Amino acid sequence: MPVPLLDLREQYRPLRDDILTAITRVCDSQQFIGGPEVAALEGELAAFTRVPHAIGVSSGTDALLVAMMALGIKAGDEVITPTFSFFATAGCVVRLGATPTLVDIDPVTFNIDPTAIERALSPRTKAIIPVHLYGLCADMDPILEVANRAGLAVIEDAAQAIGSTYRGRQAGAMGTAGCFSFFPSKNLGAFGDGGFVTTHDEKLAHEIRLLRNHGAEPKYFHLRVGGNFRLDALQAAVLRVKLPFLARWTDMRRLNAERYDRLFAEAGLSRASGGPIDLPVHPADRTHIFNQYVIRVPDRDRVRERLSAKGIGTEIYYPVPFHLQECFASLGYRRGDFPAAERAAAEVLALPIYGELTADQQWEVVSALRDATR
Ligand SMILES: *Cc1c(COP(=O)(O)O)cnc(C)c1O
Repeated sequence: MPVPLLDLREQYRPLRDDILTAITRVCDSQQFIGGPEVAALEGELAAFTRVPHAIGVSSGTDALLVAMMALGIKAGDEVITPTFSFFATAGCVVRLGATPTLVDIDPVTFNIDPTAIERALSPRTKAIIPVHLYGLCADMDPILEVANRAGLAVIEDAAQAIGSTYRGRQAGAMGTAGCFSFFPSKNLGAFGDGGFVTTHDEKLAHEIRLLRNHGAEPKYFHLRVGGNFRLDALQAAVLRVKLPFLARWTDMRRLNAERYDRLFAEAGLSRASGGPIDLPVHPADRTHIFNQYVIRVPDRDRVRERLSAKGIGTEIYYPVPFHLQECFASLGYRRGDFPAAERAAAEVLALPIYGELTADQQWEVVSALRDATR
């Protein structure tokens, strides 16, 4: 039985009529840019993430970019990011002419190592971007403590972490700004690209709204050089149908994660049961939303090929840490600089975890892994 990494058709099926009705509503109105759908979605997202301001934007990448622009990050500034994340986290820093100061990850959670941040500080440091990778929040309290002491902004890359919590606080509600993505594979996916930024700071929210529309206020009078970072009304309408189901879909992912944990233990494959596979951790002070269920497995590439031969979809998030990316060669890092990230890049493997995955499919994945690791 083939098991795809992600299959969104089952999620779509029961919502099809409501989604097509919502799309038709926008088509009938012929209002495609801004308007009531975007404004309503922003209110609903603010309520969901428990922050006063949520600003819809064109992608998760643009959420990071516009948040940094609004915070005035510019050439000569340094921004601390983990070296192990999706490219956009550091790419946006470089696009603004600033320099990413890379730090290693905690090998257990895959998130930025808070103890490494202190050593990366310089008089030019302006911000820290912790990433809540795979849907598990970074260890925010020590990060916020360093940031407060040094007067730095904290931009949460919460692209994979909508609804995730840390010590009772929501992802995207802890820092200066939170950046989210509606890329279709995220827990709340649009029918195309989209994203949003959250903040408690009314002035910052205003600045972001300004910048997402070429810095114009009023129309054609430009206070800033911004860009077109707007969220489409069509995407907003689709997302408004989906948002009420997000908590349930996340619960389904969490139950699937528990089932994998159990199956891997029963099969003697997990580290705790004497096997070779490290399962994802979920510390008691956080809720993991399992955008990805990522294991570590020795001889990963060979294991992945064997799974693929059986029709089991997997992915590597991410095979190359930032410090070894060709386009960042001028930053001057070398292999060996960040051993935890390098080891993760060589060992991680994301398994199918979407909500509609069945118990039989999960059993199929585990039994294929048993054969592949023998
Ligand atoms: C998906 C993602 C982004 C970028 O989001 P897009 O909507 O694809 O631009 C940024 N950071 C992380 C960690 C992501 O997973």
